[in-house]
Amino acid sequence: MNLKTVVIIGSTGSIGRQTIEAIEKTNANVRLFEITGIAANRSDLFMQQLKQIRPKGYSFGKVLTDTDARYYADPCHLIEALQPDICVVASSGSQTLRFTVAALKHSSRVCLANKESLVMAGSLIKKIAREQNTMIIPVDSEHSSVFQLIQGERLEDIDKIYITASGGALRDWPVEKQKEATVEDVLKHPNWDMGQKITVDSATLFNKGLEVIEAVEFFGFDKERVKTALSYSSYIHALALFKDGSIKLHAGKPNMVIPIAYSLTYPERLLRDGDVELEMNKLNLRPMDVSRYPALEMAYGVLEGYNSKRITYNASNEVAVQLFLERKIAFTDIFKIVREAINQIDNEKIESIDDIIEYNEHVKKNTKEKWRGY
Ligand code: NDP
Ligand code: MG
Repeated sequence: MNLKTVVIIGSTGSIGRQTIEAIEKTNANVRLFEITGIAANRSDLFMQQLKQIRPKGYSFGKVLTDTDARYYADPCHLIEALQPDICVVASSGSQTLRFTVAALKHSSRVCLANKESLVMAGSLIKKIAREQNTMIIPVDSEHSSVFQLIQGERLEDIDKIYITASGGALRDWPVEKQKEATVEDVLKHPNWDMGQKITVDSATLFNKGLEVIEAVEFFGFDKERVKTALSYSSYIHALALFKDGSIKLHAGKPNMVIPIAYSLTYPERLLRDGDVELEMNKLNLRPMDVSRYPALEMAYGVLEGYNSKRITYNASNEVAVQLFLERKIAFTDIFKIVREAINQIDNEKIESIDDIIEYNEHVKKNTKEKWRGY
């Protein structure tokens, strides 16, 4: 592999930091990657990253003086100016859709962690990738696993895929007690160390709902063929069930550095991270009780409609999670807010990226106005 330039959008976040770690580890023997640009919003860690990495350019909420790197107010302009070989899109939230589109236009490979982009605009993203001849490699662990499971396979030979869920912090709580869950209870994820939003989504299972949509959009499976199961240890990430009766399973320790490194080095596997051991006691699954998790049921529901429903599912959840983190609503109000938002909007096809961004903002604004002071 020749030296590849990389821009990381969301460098200070959980995925961003682990991307830097994955690059340091894969660079340890032969220098394969050069980080030429980083982008974040407001974290103090960013200045330290600028000093350590010394990129050519950066994007941040404000101009920083103590650096030679060139400033770009908008991460899209950073990507456009640097034209990196690889862009890792690891910023959070629906705002990231714009950055994903810029990455698809100016890089030859996009390592896509941000699931919201695919949920909001999956078919358009794939269309832009085809037109630009850009490869998208999924970073989300379950989708990275499915991507690996289907290498060399024909999609028509696959009967179903399963993506797994840990069940999140409240998985052993009785449903009736969930309304009392505090922010601290919900942020104690049993297996993964992730950003706050996705940790809340793991407890509600909106994360799995978003991932079911992400899998349908990215791989093109019908929703009936995308199933979920519980892996309490998060050791099994995904399974593919083939029509000939074979089942392939993808497992590994819950460490995002592994799928991030794979997305950077695919089709090679160049990360070397100590001895790999088979943890046999973790190779078990439990059935998913969908009735316990309204977020999953709603995800399959919104997959029946046009993208207005999927955009609303994601946007209203984003607002609801923020309100929960600000301690303004109860944990179980998140379901109520999303359900009402979905029920209220029309089932429409939103055709362009700009219209999707506008629609998303409209849903977020309406949801905020409705539930503010509730
Ligand atoms: P974090 O909350 O930890 O990090 C978010 C990052 O986005 C931070 O670097 C933040 O910067 C940056 N950011 C926010 N707004 C902007 C902006 N306007 N411009 C540039 N950067 C911005 O999130 P995670 O790392 O957990 O998740 C990132 C994405 O990856 C999400 O879409 C999530 O769903 C997905 N994902 C995460 C997984 C995980 O294990 N964490 C697993 C699978 C997918 P700052 O810190 O300065 O505010
Ligand atoms: Mg995941």
